[in-house]
Amino acid sequence: MPTYEDARSMILANVAPLGSERVELPAALGRVLAEDVTAPWDMPSCDNSAMDGFAVRAADCRAGGSLRVTGSTPAGGTMAPAIEPGCAVRIMTGAPVPPGCDAVVPVEETEERDGAILLRESVNRPQHIRFQGEDVRSGDTVVTAGTIIHPPEISMLASFGKAIVPVYRRARVAVLSTGDELIELGERPAGGNIINSNALSLAAAIREIGAEPVILGIARDNRESHRERMGEGLKADVLITSAGVSAGDRDLVRDCLAELGIRQLFWKVDIKPGGPIAFGVKEGIPVFSLPGNPVSTLVTFEEFVRPALLRMMGHRRVIKPYVPATLRSEVRKKPGKVHFLRVRIEVENGIHWATSAGDQNTGILKTLLRANGIAVIPKEKTVIAAGEEVSVHLLRGDVGMLEE
Ligand code: AMP
Ligand code: MG
Repeated sequence: MPTYEDARSMILANVAPLGSERVELPAALGRVLAEDVTAPWDMPSCDNSAMDGFAVRAADCRAGGSLRVTGSTPAGGTMAPAIEPGCAVRIMTGAPVPPGCDAVVPVEETEERDGAILLRESVNRPQHIRFQGEDVRSGDTVVTAGTIIHPPEISMLASFGKAIVPVYRRARVAVLSTGDELIELGERPAGGNIINSNALSLAAAIREIGAEPVILGIARDNRESHRERMGEGLKADVLITSAGVSAGDRDLVRDCLAELGIRQLFWKVDIKPGGPIAFGVKEGIPVFSLPGNPVSTLVTFEEFVRPALLRMMGHRRVIKPYVPATLRSEVRKKPGKVHFLRVRIEVENGIHWATSAGDQNTGILKTLLRANGIAVIPKEKTVIAAGEEVSVHLLRGDVGMLEE
């Protein structure tokens, strides 16, 4: 039985980035850039004004002196001709600075009268000019392969006219639920029925990280049904099965995957919840068999599937940082397994505080709703005292945000 870390390493050793595709820039948000992008021109592309005011030759400008205004150059306008000595050209922010000018005098530092401006101060050279290429030089790499595309990357890529960008493909992830007790959302439960919530929670978790779920429905507890649906699932980039992976008579998932040629790399990890998880591969397609209990399903997705999907979609950082948090009150556990403790994290004066989010029984789903973190408690630990530090995987981006 592998340890938690070994299991995760084994998974990551068996997944690789999928290919890339070209998408329109707006659709690239949140995707990972697949190739370096270089600047086709300088940015700014020419010297331009940083202020609304007057383009001047600094040498002409004395405090109390005046300059004749000979023209005007709006942003987006054509370049004004070079200016004559003792003259100024009205200029808007972003407009190209006319040849010969080496400074801009902001409008609020001048007084305009009879086609001339009076200067209050002398002028430093250069001043209020954004120089060609001062941000980016033509040929520079502006966004490197492997970068997640956030709004600043969109800004940079758009600035250089990159309407279509190469990004790693989104993983298509097949989700197969198993069990005779399952019915679909919308059907009416009769005695013993359980609604197939795992398909929906997994699809949501898959979507949340930018991958694409393919819901395969329910395989019933017989081999034909399993094999048929699994065969369908192997057309995707990844197959996730839910339930039927323990040691019960009707737990057919591992057997059927083996019949379909999936090489099992491990079954059972020394963790709680989620111990019965299995992982295998077939021709580069990773297959995760997650336990059916809805808490175990989501916790094992978070700890094992998420990093794998991120890697397949080109992400370089796939394991969340472990955030140190101080436990508010004592927690006890049995030795022998790593426990994924569902915790509530609060940030006070820069310190992360962790409190148990409630009953840690695997069957208690509502504790997971209250949790915004998973504290990873080492195998050998039995008592974690109040004030002790635990390592937490944060589940939400809003941890520590203030309510208004
Ligand atoms: P199993 O591994 O098949 O014994 O299932 C473990 C537990 O998970 C049982 O209580 C199942 O009813 C529950 N379960 C299995 N599949 C699902 C599912 N798709 N959605 C919600 N709960 C499920
Ligand atoms: Mg079952």
